This record gives sequence, C-alpha cells and structure tokens, in this order.
Amino acid sequence: MTPLARLLVERIRETGPISVADYMAECLLHPVHGYYITREPFGAAGDFVTAPMISQMFGELFGLALAQAWLDQGAPAPFTLAELGPGRGDLMADALRATRGVPGFHAAVRVVLVEASPRLRQVQAKTLAASGLTPGWLDRVEDLPDRPTFLIANEFLDALPIRQFVLSPEGWRERLVGVVRGDLAFGLSAPLPQPPDAPAFRNAQPGDLVELCAPAQAAVAAALRPILARGGLALFIDYGGWRSQGDTLQALRAHRFDPPLAHPGEADLTAHVDFEPLAALAPAHAYATQGEVLLRLGIEARAAQLARSMTGAQLENHKAALARLTDRDKMGSLFKVLALTRAGAPLPPGFAP
Ligand code: SAH
Repeated sequence: MTPLARLLVERIRETGPISVADYMAECLLHPVHGYYITREPFGAAGDFVTAPMISQMFGELFGLALAQAWLDQGAPAPFTLAELGPGRGDLMADALRATRGVPGFHAAVRVVLVEASPRLRQVQAKTLAASGLTPGWLDRVEDLPDRPTFLIANEFLDALPIRQFVLSPEGWRERLVGVVRGDLAFGLSAPLPQPPDAPAFRNAQPGDLVELCAPAQAAVAAALRPILARGGLALFIDYGGWRSQGDTLQALRAHRFDPPLAHPGEADLTAHVDFEPLAALAPAHAYATQGEVLLRLGIEARAAQLARSMTGAQLENHKAALARLTDRDKMGSLFKVLALTRAGAPLPPGFAP
C-alpha cells in the first residue's frame, strides 16, 4: 500500500467514501504525496512521454500557428503567450525558438506559465533559460492578465479531476471510492435526488456511465476571459472525443496501464477529455485530430528539412517520431485539437476552411 493509500483509507473510514474527483485530486496534487508534487513523470525513466518530448516539431509548429494567429489579429502588443501545465517546458521552448524570426513577436510577448507543481516550475525555468525570455508563473488560469492572449495546453485538461455517474434502475448514482476489507474499492452512492444538469445526462440508457469535469469547464472559461475581452486564441490538445465516452479513468505507471486504485500518488491518473461542452463555452471553435492539424501545419516539410542533417539511429528515431505524432493508429487520431476564439476572428492555421 502506498503512503497516500494508507491516508485515504483512514480518511474514508472516518468520514465516508469520496468522489472519484476527490480521489484524483489527492493522487495528483496532495501537498506531500501527490504524483506531480513528488515524481518525475516524464521520459523513459518516468511513467509517460508526451508529444513535445517526442519531437521538437510539435512545439515549433504549434508555436508558429499561434504566431500566425497573432499576425492575423493585427499583432497586438503587448500580448500574453500562455501555456497551461507546461510539464518540462519543451513545448514552450520549441515555440519560442521557432518564432524568433517572426517580426515583433518576441518584443511584444509576455510568457505566462500556469503550473501547480513547484518542482516542475524549476524544471521549466531551466528549459526556458536559453530562450532569453523570462516567464511569469501563475497558480490558477483565473489569474491570467487582461491582455490579448494566445494560449496552448497539451495534456493539461486530462489531469483535471472528473466525477463519474452511473444510471441505475433506481436513477443516477455517483461512483465513489470507499474501503472494502481494508483496501480502496469503487462503489456507488445512493440514488441522487437531483443529478447534475448536463447534456451528457440526457438520452442515457440504464447502465451508462457519464463523466463530468467541472474543473476543465472552469479552466477553459477562465482561459477565454482575456481572449473574449482583448482578442487571441486558445488551443487545447488532448486525448478524448466529442462527447462523454463511458469510463475513461486511467492510471499509467512506468509506461503501462495500472488499475486506478492500485498505486495512489505513484501513478499518473487521467481521464479522456470531452471536448463538446468545452467548445460550447466559446462563440467560435474549430476541432480536428492532431494528425490532421500537424499535417496541415506542414510537419512533413519540417521533418524533411530536419532529416537532411541526420543519419543512422537519429534519422530512424526522427521518422518514427513523425509517424507517432501523426499516424491514425498512433497519436494522430486519438489526440484532438480544439481551437477557441472570438466570433468573427480568423480561423487558426491548421484547420480545414
Ligand atoms: N504539457 C506538458 C505536460 C503535461 S502533464 C507536456 O505536454 O509535456 C500535466 C501538467 O499539468 C503538469 O505540468 C502538471 O504539473 C500540470 N497540472 C496538473 N494539474 C494542474 C492544475 N490543477 N493546475 C495547474 N497545473 C496543473
């Protein structure tokens, strides 16, 4: 049993079962035992690898897409270039390097990183040192300054706590984490007198499980506030789909799926993102798969250019990285990109007209 599991069992014995959202929040961000607080999640020695770590092309192309959106909106100065949950900081570092040649972009940029983990903030500061730009850090998306804002978040929303509800013959019940014979176990609440009112609850069949992520709704609404007031664009990249898809709670440990209750605090815990209710928060949106967007942004041309100076294993890794990011049976179609902006603002590059 992990130290956090012992704490949770004790707490549940004292005060009763907790929601899946409370369980996720404790596992990821508990101040002493939380996964993002204590562990190095990323890379071969960690638990998972993300797109910006697979290839520099990911941050370069999305950085240039944001710079093009900035130009299309009249190159406002100063402006915020924001990232939510930057991890090691690779995406932002690659975006800043790629946009050095965009006239006026670096002179006008204020880099803002929203990061909950003090340890990862230090890693991000190191990664970004070479850019010559000093980022500012915020605890909460709600604190974004009131300026034109061009924002990106890769694999951020999937880390936000979800609640799960099951339609039983007696009505909606919430899925809870309780204790059975000394171990954490899933169970169900009594039927809810008043289930949450969300589109995903309508047309459900008995036995269906629906997930709600109120913190994702809140984060996207907060990201949109400066964009709707002052201009800009937000890009959310994540695995998920257009509508709640049943039970998607998953734990990853050392690059393998792990039962979600098995190692609290020592495994990454995420859920698939339901983009439909997030898109509804903005007056204008575009939605496509990661593969489609990267191909339209010219990843093949960039890959060919980088390949010219590569040989042997490096070249093979580079080719594999391109396939991994874009192929339909790899990250290309599991991952989606949601772009949100003001009504009438130009469609961001990378999306079909
Ligand atoms: N975007 C990065 C890392 C994704 S991991 C990449 O693509 O490699 C998720 C990131 O979100 C981590 O940096 C984690 O510390 C951060 N995070 C998780 N929950 C958060 C919250 N509630 N507020 C702010 N940051 C959070």
